Order: sequence, then C-alpha cells, then structure tokens
Amino acid sequence: MNAEADALSAARDAVKDADRKHVFHSWSAQELIDPLAVAGAEGSYFWDYDGNRYLDFSSALVYTNIGYQHPKVTAAIQEQAARLCTVAPGFAVDVRSEAARLIAERTPGELDRIFFTNGGAEAVENAVRMARLHTGRPKVMSAYRSYHGATSTAINLTGDARRFGNDTATAGVVHFWGPFAYRSPFYAADEAEECERALRHLEDTIVFEGPQSIAAIVLETVGGAPGALVHPDGYLAGVRALCDRYGILLVLDEVMVGFGRTGTWFAADHWGVVPDLLCFAKGVNSGYVPLGGVALSPAVAATFATRPYPGGLTYSGHVLACAAAVATINVMAEEGIVEQSARTGAELLGPGLRALAERHPSVGEVRGLGTFWALELVRDRATREPLVPYNAAGADNAPMAAFGAACKKGGLWPLIAGNRIHVAPACNISAEDVAKGLEILDEALSVADAHMA
Ligand code: PLP
Repeated sequence: MNAEADALSAARDAVKDADRKHVFHSWSAQELIDPLAVAGAEGSYFWDYDGNRYLDFSSALVYTNIGYQHPKVTAAIQEQAARLCTVAPGFAVDVRSEAARLIAERTPGELDRIFFTNGGAEAVENAVRMARLHTGRPKVMSAYRSYHGATSTAINLTGDARRFGNDTATAGVVHFWGPFAYRSPFYAADEAEECERALRHLEDTIVFEGPQSIAAIVLETVGGAPGALVHPDGYLAGVRALCDRYGILLVLDEVMVGFGRTGTWFAADHWGVVPDLLCFAKGVNSGYVPLGGVALSPAVAATFATRPYPGGLTYSGHVLACAAAVATINVMAEEGIVEQSARTGAELLGPGLRALAERHPSVGEVRGLGTFWALELVRDRATREPLVPYNAAGADNAPMAAFGAACKKGGLWPLIAGNRIHVAPACNISAEDVAKGLEILDEALSVADAHMA
C-alpha cells in the first residue's frame, strides 16, 4: 500500500516537474501558478495522484457534456484511429460527411452546410470572414458581456477583460450593451423594459455606426463567460429583426451552449430564432478530440458556390474529431442526454440553487437553464455590490479565492469567474451527484457569506 502511494507521489512529482519546466499555460503568469496534476477521469469525476476525487462542476471548460471517458466515444475514436487516422481536408470521407449530416440535422432552420474548424475561436473567426465577404461590409458588433475566443478577431470581439491585453483597436469591432436585468445598464425596472431598452440601444448603435458598414452582430445565444446570461424573451427575436432591417448577418455563438448544455440541442431552440451563421465547438464531441465549426445558411453558402472561399485549415474536419462527434451525438440521442439536461435544470439544479440562495445572503442572483447556471455573489444584497470588484486580482480577489478553495476542499471542482460561480456539470450528471454538489456548495457558500460587507 505504501509502495503504491510512493509510486503515485513520484509520478505526480514527475508530471508537475516537467509541466513547470516545459509547459507554457494559457492566460497565466507562468511562475505564479501551480497546476493540479490529474491522474484520470470518468463520468462526472476526475482525480489526482493523492487520492482526491473531484466532482467536476465545470465540465472541464464547459465541454464534457457527456462526462469523461464515455466508453462508446472512446471506442469510436479507437476504431477510427485503427481504420484511418487522418486524411486531408479536401477529400470526401465517410465519418466527416456523417458528422456534418448529424450536426446539420440538429441546427436551427436551414443551416445545413458545415465548415469544420478545430475549436471555437476559429469558428468565430471564419464566421466573421464569411459575413464580411457575403455583405461586403467591414465592421462586426458584439456585446461587452461576452467571450468569443482568443484568436485575433475573436479576442477583439470578446467584451470581457481578457480583451484588454490584446486590443489592437483595429479589428473593426463595435461593442454594445446587451440586456442584464440584475445589473441593468438601462436602469430598467423589469425584464420586459430591459429587453425593449437594450434593443433600442442596439438600434441606436447600428444607426450611429452606419448600417452600411456593419457585416454582422455576433452574439452568444446564452452568455457563457458572463455566467449563464439568459436573454429576456423577445431579445433574440428583436436582434434578428434589426439584422433583417439593416442587412446585417446574425451570428449566434453556441460554442459553449450548443449540444445539450441548456437543455436543447442548441440554445436558439428556446426562442425559435434562426441565425445566418452558427458557431459551435466544445459539446459537439465533448472535447474528446478538438473540433468546432460554422453552420451556414443557404444564402451565405451560395456566396461561395462559384467563388472560392478564402479560408481553410489543415485539420478542418479531422477524422478522429469527426468520429468522436458522430459517436457523441448518437450517444446523446440514444441516452436522452439533452432531455436529461433540461430535467436536471428544471427539477434539481434550479430549485436546489434557489434553495441555497435562500440560506446564503452572499448569493445575489441565481440564473440558468438546463445544466448551465450561475450564482452571482455579492457583498450586499441590497446594493448588489459584487463580492469582488470587476477583473479583481490578488488580495482584491481573496473572497472568491477562499470560496473556491472551500469548494475544492469539499471535493467539488468549481468554475469561478469574477464574482460568480458557474455551475456547469456534465449534462448527464446523476441526481445523486447533483445533490452531493449542492451539499458541498452549501458549505462553501458559508465562506462567501463570511466575506460580506
Ligand atoms: N465562443 C464562446 C462562447 C466560448 O465560450 C469559447 C470558449 O470558451 C470560445 C468561443 C472559444 O473557443 P475555443 O477556446 O475552443 O477557441
């Protein structure tokens, strides 16, 4: 037993040592981080080399929608690897055709043509390229409360603070305020007023920018990085109508919220809105192999019917990733995972998180859909002052750091962003694990309560 523990400790040290010496991590000051060494994962859990198991309420980065190591998907990847591990993107291949067919069957409206990428940012990047070429217009608009990826155009579209280190001020991006009733930028009294004023603000922005210069509005159907920001009823339909009025394309970014996350195949299904272009990634194959893409309307696809599309990727529609997508989508359909996500939200997570809010004064707002929720933590419920300031770091962020540490100590891996915890477990999480996660959150929220004003 001791020999086994010693071997695991040695393995952990070797992994961490090589990581610290040779791996350059995203979004981090390299010398200030201490990444956990992960030894394995299955279903809703992963574990380290020291015997700690974590219930993953972050789904990695909100992408393991069917959990880790689903045996049907790992088998499909292995079978594909044995049969045909790679082939250039210019060929027609069975598994790529089938992945495109299965995705197109589920995307809203007539978005029936799929351009494959390796992830979400490339999907956004290509959607913008398509929109600019289709309309012949240069500008793109996006919301301040948003994240669209870390490549050049995508990070400039991004509204949140991750843009700051990348802002070239030359990306042709115009930001606007979307609706957010809890922290209304429009001083609205309720959701209906927030919706109406947000649409008026968007139209004013379009008119003052010059509609003839705007190619697309890029919008997360439900805000991901801003924390399960569900638009009020009527907002997306209103944006669609503005796009139609001014000849602007609507690009819905469903990278985080597609494939069951909000309890429907695509979040747009909640409101019956059909975009001109839809970006996806993450849940399309639960991130088992990198894959993303853009679904195109017939009109945008027609622009490139006889004129070459000036974009491409060496690994566009990689067959291993497509095999994982085919298996994932089939598993989701066979096991009713989209419906399970909706039920889990309506019957377990929604009521459970609202009950926590009743007990913990630090919870200012609970919002979400399906298996995608957020708790907004505050110093004061009346003023709604966030528990930590916007873009807080170091000592300023101490209350959220303490709350996160309490979650991990209890055995739950949280996704914390700013003053929020995003609750995004696997879409097929069991009822027992939801209950267990809520119990751990209950304890950890007492730590947040203690940091209130
Ligand atoms: N768009 C949205 C809405 C996202 O949430 C993300 C990633 O979190 C991206 C785009 C970028 O995706 P990727 O990191 O795969 O490039």
